[in-house]
Amino acid sequence: MQATSESARHEGKVIAFVPTMGYFHAGHLNLMREGRARAERLVVSIYVNPTQFGPGEDLDRYPSDFDRDQRMASGVGVDVIYFPPTSEMYPEHYQTYVTVEGVTQNLCGLSRPGHFRGVATVCTKLFNAVKPHVAIFGKKDFQQLVTIKRMVEDLNMDLQIVGMPTTREADGLAMSSRNVYLNTEERKSALCLSRALKMAQGRYEGGERNAARILGEVCPYIEGYPYAVIDYARICDTTTLSDVDVLEGESVLALAVKVGATRLIDNYVFGESLDI
Ligand code: AMP
Repeated sequence: MQATSESARHEGKVIAFVPTMGYFHAGHLNLMREGRARAERLVVSIYVNPTQFGPGEDLDRYPSDFDRDQRMASGVGVDVIYFPPTSEMYPEHYQTYVTVEGVTQNLCGLSRPGHFRGVATVCTKLFNAVKPHVAIFGKKDFQQLVTIKRMVEDLNMDLQIVGMPTTREADGLAMSSRNVYLNTEERKSALCLSRALKMAQGRYEGGERNAARILGEVCPYIEGYPYAVIDYARICDTTTLSDVDVLEGESVLALAVKVGATRLIDNYVFGESLDI
């Protein structure tokens, strides 16, 4: 991968990169299209990174279909699919990790200890392999995007990070490879996330700026749905990801909800449009 990228760089080609865990949906394809538009070389990685999964999470059953992914990627003009084996990513005696501090403390950092250490480490390794000029991430994983931007700035990594809006199903559910875990009844309940975001948007547009009052409506609304159990619902500053009491600067409502056994996340940056 390094040799391929090095020769593209020698030819003066711009390299765009989309890191993924595979099992593509329209959200992934949208990131790829953005990469395609920004560069002469488009590299997509497929790697289900064990260091970002905690014990008891879905590492062993994470969905995959390489042939389907390959067809979808070639349909949007991907040049290279990079799918390194774990024996190469984490060989025996591997012992180096990247830790981003402040922005990984709240939200998924609370419920998935070690998750962002795994994400920051694998992205560093993938960036070193692919040598991209620009890497494209989804805003659906808002804390991940903030963490990667922080890491790239703090460690003087020589690439640009671009965040793309969340792609949704027609009824509002944020696309996710994990949506295949939902049975018919759970799929209906999964709408609690996007509908709660919509409700919060309405309160904000009506002038509400008190975080506790917005959460006081959002939380019971979500838990009114069958099978839905809130992991977290918080309103945070979009730069620090610390909780805010009053929506003054740019703030985000971040949700993680277990619907049955499936943990779903979604978010809304107050003031932005929400296409639901
Ligand atoms: P994943 O394969 O789930 O690790 O996601 C790979 C990339 O796609 C990450 O940057 C995600 O944020 C992004 N992504 C996942 N779902 C969506 C979505 N519904 N809309 C936009 N980007 C997404």
